[in-house]
This record gives sequence, structure tokens and C-alpha cells, in this order.
Amino acid sequence: MSDSIDFDAVVIGAGFGGLRALHDLRKMDLSTVLLEAGTDVGGVWYWNRYPGARTDSEAWYYCYSFSKEVLAEWDWSQRYPTQDEMSRYFRFVTDRLDLRKHIRFQTRLTGATWDESANVWLVQTNDGQSLTCRYLVSAAGPLSKPFLPDIPGLDSFAGEWYQTAFWPKHDIDFTGKRVAVVGTGASGVQVVPVVALSAAEVTVFQRTPNYVLPARNRPLDEAERVAIKADYDNIWERARRQFYAMDLPVCEHGAADYSPADQQRVLERAWEVGGFRFLFDTFNDLWLDGEANEIASEFIRSKIRAIVKDPATAELLCPQYPLAAKRPPCGHGYYEAYNRENVSLVDVSKNPITEILPTGLRTATDVYEADVIIFATGFDAITGPAQGVDIRGRDGRRLSEVWETVPRSYLGMAVDGFPNMFTVAGPLGPFANGPTMVEGQVEWVTDAISRMQRHGAVAMEPTPESVDSWVQHAGEILEGTVLANAATANSWFLGANIPGKPRGILAYFGGAGTYFDRLDSEAEADFPGFTFTAADDTAQQTVSVNS
Ligand code: NAP
Repeated sequence: MSDSIDFDAVVIGAGFGGLRALHDLRKMDLSTVLLEAGTDVGGVWYWNRYPGARTDSEAWYYCYSFSKEVLAEWDWSQRYPTQDEMSRYFRFVTDRLDLRKHIRFQTRLTGATWDESANVWLVQTNDGQSLTCRYLVSAAGPLSKPFLPDIPGLDSFAGEWYQTAFWPKHDIDFTGKRVAVVGTGASGVQVVPVVALSAAEVTVFQRTPNYVLPARNRPLDEAERVAIKADYDNIWERARRQFYAMDLPVCEHGAADYSPADQQRVLERAWEVGGFRFLFDTFNDLWLDGEANEIASEFIRSKIRAIVKDPATAELLCPQYPLAAKRPPCGHGYYEAYNRENVSLVDVSKNPITEILPTGLRTATDVYEADVIIFATGFDAITGPAQGVDIRGRDGRRLSEVWETVPRSYLGMAVDGFPNMFTVAGPLGPFANGPTMVEGQVEWVTDAISRMQRHGAVAMEPTPESVDSWVQHAGEILEGTVLANAATANSWFLGANIPGKPRGILAYFGGAGTYFDRLDSEAEADFPGFTFTAADDTAQQTVSVNS
């Protein structure tokens, strides 16, 4: 596009969003480079290689929709692919679409500054590279900044310790070892039953229990694979309309439409089928109505009490907040693991871990010996990754400060004062199945850039009013759900899992279909929520698209 800049676009992160953005921007003949901190592609599936890691969404809609070649040539082996299978998939996509040569691995973005006189971003990396580009597309990942609780004494621990989200590449042998697992979110729930197979002891430190839905994994046979491939067009059509962008059936009845006996039958059927169907194919008011939610929540508690033989342990595993106030994990023998003699549960909700000792962990009342500690303690989600990077927009405004209290964005992808910066899976984007969501977002970003090119604009940014109204809209939507009242469920999508992080809405809960419609109408109306800077506008006046 320009001789005076290094690249038209710089993309951050080689996960689902970044690779799709790299592919599409290059298809537009824009010179594009992707910066990736890891040594290979995969994003969250590159870093989270802990034992038991696998998808919670079913393979056939937890993947790219856009490439007919990839859809035709890639075969999923099972309903929920493992981390290893996901990594192989990412490598396949990258090589099949010839993207690798445009990726700089082991390169981390450290800063980016908007140069207002030239309408370009000046990008810095950890290895001293300085690049200029017109468009900065961050697909750094909403769950890419792992959180390690600040517990005194970790340096003194004489054993090994690991974080699920920074898992080493080599195999770890747990045979004969006493393993402490801290955290019972989706990561902890996957790690516990697998480590328990070889460890001498597994002690799980639980602060808040989760509603763990049975995944019911199984291999896919050839007939199913053929059927999935033949149905892909419909799969994407359905996924884009479903509330969480998953190809799952959507029920039409609320809990009150059923007799108590039929309610139990509906819940039982979804429990047996497994996975997230329990959230969507049971009662259509589960997310909105406290009573409907409680019927489903109590059903799961009854299952926990039936599966876990020790009544005291079962009771500790029973959540007392509304189902979905935390993102429910899918389990692969999680509750069953507590029936093993080598697995025990410690409640640290009122008696927290106060210290790590050379030989284990201490609470106010007890000491627990351990050879290995696994921290499955989650992420500083969505806005966290920007906190460690010096991104400065107009007038030197720092993104980390803009997002410090109330995260601002328009449509989850653009921030006023940060022209030509697009945040894929950024704050106030939809809470939805990752691949489907980010593909829709990247398509919109390329539409926006095309619009700039068509009209000879060199910069676009959302108006403060459009950002304010999106922030307000996202907040109002949350208020209408059971999630807003879940004061005790310190969920990452409210920023409430990180000490000191202001509690506030980080995601849009209006549903994927509504969100995609909104993206379409914004693009079809020629981006009325934005102002554009014309190429010959040396005075840096912004011109309304409607002018
Ligand atoms: P998480 O859901 O935030 O869970 C972190 C866990 O660590 C919580 O149980 C938390 O307790 C606990 N914790 C934090 N600090 C602690 C402390 N000082 N003492 C004791 N416990 C402490 O994180 P995650 O499990 O990594 O999952 C995050 C998200 O990543 C998931 O919701 C999901 O969206 C995604 N994920 C997906 C998959 C998949 O699809 N297969 C797998 C893993 C993760 P509190 O609840 O009390 O804060």
C-alpha cells in the first residue's frame, strides 16, 4: 500500500483469530506480518499443554469455517480433540494455507505507538525490532495472561511446580508423587483425573466448586466424519445463529412449560448426551430466570451427590451459586476421580492457602505435603494481556489506563483514541465459541479496512459516543441475566478472579446471532459508529462517513 511503511498490517498472536486475520489480510494484497511469542502456532492450544487438556466444544464447530480445503482435508478423531490434536490441526492449517513464512515466532509485542502525523503505528518487540504499519490487529487471546496467586514462599518450594497455562513441552512423570492441584476451573477439572492415574496422591485445593458437565467423549467413526463434512454449510449457518455460536440444538420451552417430572426427564436427557447441551437444550429461560436456573443447578447437585461416594466431599463439590455464573467446565471423570483412594479435596474457601513451604502448602490450620504443585489458577482475562504492553493511541493515551477501570470498546473490536487498531476477542466482544466468534470479527475487520481503501481513508476510529453506547448496552444486557446477581461467583468474565482488578463486565452477553447482525448492519450502513481520516487531510481533520 505504501512504500514508507514496513507492513500494511501487523497481527498479534497465532491462534484462531490471528491466523485467520493473517490469511484474509494477505488475500487483500496487504503486506502483513504476524508476531507470535511462542515457537509454533496454536495460541491457547500452544501454551495450555497440561495433562488432560482438550476442547470443551465439539470438534466440528470448534474449528475454522472459511477454508473449503481445510474442511475437506482435515479429519477429527474424536468429539473433543486433545491439545495435541488441536496443535496438529493448527500446524496443518498454517502449512496448508502457506502462512508460516509470514509469521515471526518467539517475537512478543512490547509496545505500539500511534504516530498521528503519518497515520501509522510504530510497533516494538521484545527482541528490539521496530516496525511501522497502517493497521494493528491484536488477536493476543482473551485467556493468554496466566494468573499465579501471590502466595508467600513459592520460591522456597523444594519440589516442582507448574502452571497449567504455561505447561512445559517435556513429559512430566507423576509416578509415586504427591501432587497438589490449586484451582478447580476448566483447567483444574481436566488435570485432576489424568494426574490421578499415575500420582501417589492428588490433593485438590478448592476455593469455589464448579458445575462440571459430563463431556461424554467418544471417537468419531468414518461415517460420522463423512456426515459432518457433508453438513458443514449448515453447521456454520446454525452456529452463527446460536446464542454461544455453537452448533447445538436450542430448546423452545421454559422450565415452567414442563411438569416437575418432565423437567427432570429433560435435564436427564441432556446430561446423558453430554457437553454444553445441558445449558442450551433444557430450558430456554435457564440464563434469565432464577427459578429455572435453580432447578437445573439442583439437578447437577443431585448428580454430584449420586456420583461421589463420600457425602462430605460431595457436599463440598456442590456449587451454591446459579449455574453458568461461572463458565461451566466439561468433565472427563472429574467427580468420579474423588472416589479414588489417592484423591482428596481440601476446602480453602474460608481457610485459604497462606504459605508455600519447602515441603508443601500451609493453610491457617493444616500443612499438606507435596512433591509437585500444579497451579490451575486461571487468567487475567480479556483486558489483562494489554496491561503488560505499552500501547499508546492519540495524545499518548495508554490502552492499559483506558481499560484499567471500565473496559471500553465499540463492538468488542475498536477503541476511541486508538485509530486503526482492531482487537479480535477484545473487551465487550461476545461471550461465545471462540473460533466462530473470531472468524466473524476478522471478516468485519477486513470489511472495515476495505471500506477505508475504497474511500481513500488512512485511518478510522470509533466515536466516543458509539463506544459509550456499546459499553452501556453490554451492561444492560448482563443485568437481564442470572449472571449479574452472582455476586459470589468470582468469574473471570467479570474480572472478579484477579485481586485488585475492578469488577465489571468484560464480555457481551447479547448472543452471537444478535452480535453478528449488529456487525453486518454497521458495515452495510458504511460504519456510522466511526470517523475516518482522509488521505489528503493534512490538517488531520476527521470526516464523518456520512458527510
Ligand atoms: P478459572 O476458571 O479462572 O479457575 C481458576 C481456579 O483457580 C478457580 O477455581 C479459582 O478459585 C482458583 N484460584 C485462584 N486463586 C486461588 C487461590 N489463591 N487459592 C485457591 N484457589 C485459587 O481458570 P481456568 O480453569 O484456567 O479456566 C479459565 C477459562 O479458560 C475457562 O472458563 C474456559 O473458558 C477456558 N478453558 C477452557 C478449556 C476448554 O475448553 N477445554 C480448558 C481450560 C480453560 P475461585 O473460583 O474461587 O476464584
